Amino acid sequence: MIRALYPGTFDPIHNGHIDIAQRAASIFDELVIGVYDAPPKKLLFNTAERVALVRGALAHLSNCSIVPFVGLTVECARTIDARVIVRGLRNLADFEFESQIGLANRKMAPEIELCCLISSTEYIYLSSTIVKEVAGLHGDISSWVQPAIAQAMAQRLAENRADLPGTNPPAKKSVTKTRSKLTHHG
Ligand code: ADP
Repeated sequence: MIRALYPGTFDPIHNGHIDIAQRAASIFDELVIGVYDAPPKKLLFNTAERVALVRGALAHLSNCSIVPFVGLTVECARTIDARVIVRGLRNLADFEFESQIGLANRKMAPEIELCCLISSTEYIYLSSTIVKEVAGLHGDISSWVQPAIAQAMAQRLAENRADLPGTNPPAKKSVTKTRSKLTHHG
């Protein structure tokens, strides 16, 4: 019986993640999705929310479970008795990152193998950051995330806008200070 851990932030889970999870679940006997309990500051969803969204998105996978975790990924893998860590690879940057972390992880936990699955071509450009940025600019994300995720994002983005100083009641100046990668004029 081989149990694999697929760790990530999943803020939020999108179709590229789901594709990797489905393929990993078909390779390994059990797949555990590890939702990294990162500081909530820069995240759209807190850990409990991300866990719930992942759980809903992967409910169709009968051999898949979800756990939040803190600290080292290899320690999480040891705790749940996983022999393999699964990651997705989209491009050379992912490869460089994963190979470096993978070698460090092997040094710390040589009994745990790394299994990188190449992204399916239709999701190769997709990241949680892109999904959040497009949703934040009122773009259509329906081909990138499940409807429940899109709905949760719309609700959270609306809450965040209402919380912005000067936007409640709606202010005329609602320009964000961060330069957008998706708008030519930033
Ligand atoms: P991180 O782990 O850096 O916080 P994510 O939670 O977004 O990033 O991603 C978790 C894992 O899913 C990583 O291995 C990442 O490379 C992979 N992944 C993210 N987006 C895609 C995609 N579009 N296709 C395949 N794998 C992906």
